[in-house]
Amino acid sequence: MENIEAREFSGPRVDLHSHSTCSDGVLSPAALVARAAQQGVDLLAITDHDTTAGVSEARTAAATLGLKLIAGVEISVSWQNRVLHVLGLNVDPQHPELAAGLQALGEVRVVRAERLAEKLEKIGIAGALAGAREQAGGGIPGRNHFARFLVAAGHARDTQRAFKRYLVRGASCHVSCEWAGLDAALSWISSAGGVSVLAHPARYKLTNGALRRLLAEFRAAGGVGMEVISGFQTADLTATMARYARQFDLLASRGSDFHEPGAGLELGRLPPLPEDCTPVWQSWAA
Ligand code: AMP
Ligand code: MN
Ligand code: MN
Ligand code: MN
Repeated sequence: MENIEAREFSGPRVDLHSHSTCSDGVLSPAALVARAAQQGVDLLAITDHDTTAGVSEARTAAATLGLKLIAGVEISVSWQNRVLHVLGLNVDPQHPELAAGLQALGEVRVVRAERLAEKLEKIGIAGALAGAREQAGGGIPGRNHFARFLVAAGHARDTQRAFKRYLVRGASCHVSCEWAGLDAALSWISSAGGVSVLAHPARYKLTNGALRRLLAEFRAAGGVGMEVISGFQTADLTATMARYARQFDLLASRGSDFHEPGAGLELGRLPPLPEDCTPVWQSWAA
């Protein structure tokens, strides 16, 4: 077992997608960085949903532990009636244009949480806003916090089921929102000195044709990279995503999308990128 892991995960451990308690992760920024260091990660990006609030705490922890931290954010984007996630990596978290954009998305999130709680109330689930706020530890509650509340209050057996029953598009309490436009998100990121990376392209359930249109539009709008490896995925999918990256002239990224210990992929436990990909982190790793 040791040998297999050593072979599979040799080389620099790079993980450019992770969440803290500043959005829907369960570890504080400092604890996230400490866990990454423990897992042997050398280069970590903290990419909370629509906020860079965790960056400064993560930076301090990373400096102490000798790990390189990339300041990042995962921006919610509305595109053709869908929600996409765009990572801004290596951003200046204080840049005014980015900060103003994220502030506006925070307001969308506040209203969405209220409307979601109203919908739950209507089907007989009381106290969801307070419950989700509690799960969010004082931050703005996202769908994961509602899912955790629903489980804690006995309305679902686990968070997967809570999503399926109440929170996904088409479910009873889904609330659709107007997130950032694609051009706006890319402009905030580049103004803040960062690079835009399309997160988990395979997770949008797009047809091949629609995915190609998205990648072309993303590239034309100034998108720089795409996640070729996101969380646990098959080698086949990795090869397919690597082909798309080459075809659309996008740099390749990889990230665990870590949210909590014991659920989903562990920090840094990612296979290497296919050889013919150009890593988005090439200039940061040194
Ligand atoms: P939000 O940005 O608040 O709408 O929440 C999006 C987050 O919810 C994603 O980043 C995931 O962490 C989580 N999520 C979305 N869909 C599901 C699902 N079907 N099952 C479990 N978690 C999900
Ligand atoms: Mn999330
Ligand atoms: Mn995402
Ligand atoms: Mn994520």
